[in-house]
Amino acid sequence: GRLLKHDPDSGVDGWKKGEPVPYLFLANVFENISETTKRLEIAEMLTNAFRTVIVSNPDDLLAAVYLASNTIAPQHEGIDLGIGDATLVKILAEATGRKESAIRADYKEQGDLGIVASMSRSTQKTMFAPPKLTMSGVLKEFRAIATTEGTKSVDAKKAKIKKLLVAARECEAGYIVRSLQGKLRIGLAQQTVNQALIHAVVLQSDAAAKAAKEGGNGAVADLLGRGADVLKQVFSECPSYDEIVPALLMEGGVDKLHSRCHFRPGVPVKPMLAKPTCGVSEVLQRFSDVEFTCEYKYDGERAQIHLLEDGTVKIFSRNQEDNTPKFPDVIRALPSYLKAGVKSVVIDGEAVAYDREQHKILPFQILSTRGRKNIDEADIKVNVCIYAFDCLYLNGETLLQKSLTERREAMYSAFKEVPDEFYFCTAKISRDVEELQVFLEDSIADNTEGLIVKTMDATYEPSKRSLNWLKLKKDYLEGCGDSLDLVPIGAFHGRGKRTGVYGAYLLACYDEESEELQSICKIGTGFSDEQLVELTEGLRPTVIEAPRSYFKYDANAMKCDVWFDPSQVWEVKAADLSISPVHQAGHGLVDPVKGIALRFPRFLRKRDDKNVEQATNSEQVADFYNAQATKQEFAGGDDDY
Ligand code: ATP
Repeated sequence: GRLLKHDPDSGVDGWKKGEPVPYLFLANVFENISETTKRLEIAEMLTNAFRTVIVSNPDDLLAAVYLASNTIAPQHEGIDLGIGDATLVKILAEATGRKESAIRADYKEQGDLGIVASMSRSTQKTMFAPPKLTMSGVLKEFRAIATTEGTKSVDAKKAKIKKLLVAARECEAGYIVRSLQGKLRIGLAQQTVNQALIHAVVLQSDAAAKAAKEGGNGAVADLLGRGADVLKQVFSECPSYDEIVPALLMEGGVDKLHSRCHFRPGVPVKPMLAKPTCGVSEVLQRFSDVEFTCEYKYDGERAQIHLLEDGTVKIFSRNQEDNTPKFPDVIRALPSYLKAGVKSVVIDGEAVAYDREQHKILPFQILSTRGRKNIDEADIKVNVCIYAFDCLYLNGETLLQKSLTERREAMYSAFKEVPDEFYFCTAKISRDVEELQVFLEDSIADNTEGLIVKTMDATYEPSKRSLNWLKLKKDYLEGCGDSLDLVPIGAFHGRGKRTGVYGAYLLACYDEESEELQSICKIGTGFSDEQLVELTEGLRPTVIEAPRSYFKYDANAMKCDVWFDPSQVWEVKAADLSISPVHQAGHGLVDPVKGIALRFPRFLRKRDDKNVEQATNSEQVADFYNAQATKQEFAGGDDDY
């Protein structure tokens, strides 16, 4: 590949310093990246690309980072591409002058609309050569396409896409189409992009030059490591490239990053997550020398509620989506939950469906019947109650680095309970096995899922699945093991009673390291007849001609009738996990050559609050497998469930 080595002084591939960086530069980088599967090479190529951008036109770094991560705005702004295949086929036909049927036939053969787009490009003749695409220009158009609304929006979007495709040179059309689909498919997850970003910034800094001179490679590696830690922390507190990238390019870049970009009301922090455990005795064992508290684990929807200085209230989901339009009732009532003197505050809690007449918590399924967007308060049929369990910010002060003890005090000092609407989560401090078991049983009798056990001195660790928070679900009463969140990647046609719907599915977990979806089981149980129809209808539009290159499965053993573009996440429960000669989950983590499979998997529900990258990852699968192995070893223990 010709862009493998970074050479800031060359005439940078046909454009001059200070000029907008051509989109073709990045498309070529993507092309080179797609030719390798080696993580280190990919990281290096992307780092070099970012370095070149910094040298030639730093203002374009933001566009490069967005385009490489295949996003166009911070998650909480909810602006996504994701144009349907049918629309893209139509536009491709118009832009290239080819027949739709021909494009569809190519798509079937290639399995990748991006390839079809690059193949089709040259047949179109234009009177005047359109101006060359630039990185920032393409990003701007993508944003315009994603945000166009109103009656004529479909035509307006199509016109913009067509214009991009007509202007595309060489391999550009392929990457434009893939970005529009919402899938870059060259294997670049956010962590890869973030690493390349920080490496590029650090390596281009004076500090790196100085370190190299005085301390050699080791000193530079230290700088890179420190930079990566800073970015990780900052990105979880303030997940916005719009703020982070410009700040990195300022004087004092990495060193001052945290002071420039940090948690503040209005931008959701990635939530702290819990690890599963196998019972009260394991909790006591793990927390033998620390103080801890047990809280009810409410089964609703995570709600991070932000009150801004100007009085605005916002509610964010577990995935940093803006859920404000979903809860107009909570937004209106929030001031009545506040004590005097609270100007700005962020609390972490759970919104739970609630019966105000019977004064009791309703199951999660009821909450999911509540509308998603632009709900009119008058139409609300399902009431919610907020159970607050943490406080992350109060009156201008960030509390993330404070202990849970202090954060709880802040929460109590800022809020008051309002019956049937707003409560502090039920909690108990105890070390007594019996007492904790009774509390766990109480929590289930009170219609919650069990307990979350938290150490009192731990800070709030954004986006971390922390050992400072352990979950103890009621399922553990029936045997150890959490449910898994898996992605349907293929299906088998149903027969007999299931004719006309998919009768069984192939499920996969997500491997963060390789960015693969690894097959973990075939599933055909746990579905009601209605669910079978609903799932089939929901997945049919996502059928693709051929499995994606990043699906890892045994092609001889798993001959699916159809394959899906990964889009859904399903919660699944299994009897246990076993080493499998067929399935690929956690390949190499537990057994050097084999993967892990679920035995007797059962469908529980579709999860609308998780995206594919948030599915159970292969390390967690390996954790589950290992936890179970120890359990078997210690079988016969006295107070285990
Ligand atoms: P995860 O969010 O850990 O990936 P998940 O979405 O399946 O997995 P669980 O692991 O079952 O959820 O539980 C974690 C969730 O429980 C939190 O994200 C939060 O929404 C909810 N929750 C309810 N009560 C509490 C509490 N007291 N403290 C923390 N989280 C709670």
